[in-house]
Amino acid sequence: MAVPPSLGDLQADPIDALLTAHSLRRTSAARLVLGWLLAHPDTSYTHAQLQTALVSSTELALDRVTLYRLIDRLTQVGLLLCRVDASRVRRYQAMPTSVHAIAHFECQSCHRDSPLNGALSGALQANDLERAAQTALAALKALGYQDMRMDFAVRGVCVDCSTGVTA
Ligand SMILES: [Zn+2]
Repeated sequence: MAVPPSLGDLQADPIDALLTAHSLRRTSAARLVLGWLLAHPDTSYTHAQLQTALVSSTELALDRVTLYRLIDRLTQVGLLLCRVDASRVRRYQAMPTSVHAIAHFECQSCHRDSPLNGALSGALQANDLERAAQTALAALKALGYQDMRMDFAVRGVCVDCSTGVTA
């Protein structure tokens, strides 16, 4: 049985709540960008890819400058994770809230960035990386470091590239 949303439910919109909690304005563009990245938590986007994805999925006209500023703001407050891939392009994804170490593989040949959870499951216990990350973060915190985030990247040549399979 679907219950119509009450005013309380609408006010508790998680995206609005995140924006408010980080002192960001709840503009339609901010909602759109954060909402999209939270809905695709395992995908990292370049500026251009994000703009393409947003433009094709929405009526909202989002100019490049607005998008770039918005991404910078969201990254500064820690809502987005930014990393630079092998071709030195910045890629953004929603900041994972529970996992400190997301293992991922950056291919130096095709520049794809893929999560390694499946590939590592035979070699590592599911939470080995997370536990190691938490230990390291706790040690740094004890020394006075703050607001830390950890990123576990392996760089090399992916299976497809090394076997000559073209995607
Ligand atoms: Zn590759």
